[in-house]
Amino acid sequence: MSTISRILDYNNTFVGQKEYQEFHTTKYPDKKLVILTCMDTRLLELLPKAMGLRNGDAKIIKNAGAVISHPFGSIMRSILVAIYELKAEEVCVIGHHGCGMVGLQSSSILEAAKKNGVSEERIDTLSNAGIDLSTWLTGFQCVAESVTNSVHLIKNHPLMPDQIAVHGMVIHPETGKLDLVVDGYASVNSENNEILSR
Ligand SMILES: [Zn+2]
Repeated sequence: MSTISRILDYNNTFVGQKEYQEFHTTKYPDKKLVILTCMDTRLLELLPKAMGLRNGDAKIIKNAGAVISHPFGSIMRSILVAIYELKAEEVCVIGHHGCGMVGLQSSSILEAAKKNGVSEERIDTLSNAGIDLSTWLTGFQCVAESVTNSVHLIKNHPLMPDQIAVHGMVIHPETGKLDLVVDGYASVNSENNEILSR
């Protein structure tokens, strides 16, 4: 039986027995929080549980490494939608120790692509079209630094309102321990003090 068949079978029972009832909530995040984190499988249940989050508490955006590659890409758009359309008031970027994006080299992905039948010619065509595959497919060296960079990108985005606190954290993928690397309240408070002192 395929994975999808098993999922659909399970789903039949889940819906039939009304197991969804305990998850009822709305599309607005109760804790007014939007989280950008990594797609790592270890964080699937651990991250919300370690943060005390339940269904309906937060908007969670995931990708490899919790990275924003482009200020006008889909991750940044999702954060803006969460704030302007879904009433989120704080943003939290959460990287994790042992992330697969640490030290990731574009060459290893491109080698794997070639082994899987993607021709060198196709890769060259992309490069010739001006697509910088080496930057796009490269990870980062330090998770705390990557989180800090993403926090700054969000905080300084031209469409981001000043009063939104943007925090940075690193989570341990086994214990769920969170370390705060950027306290978003600090910059919001200093901006408020600046406004008051004018
Ligand atoms: Zn990761």
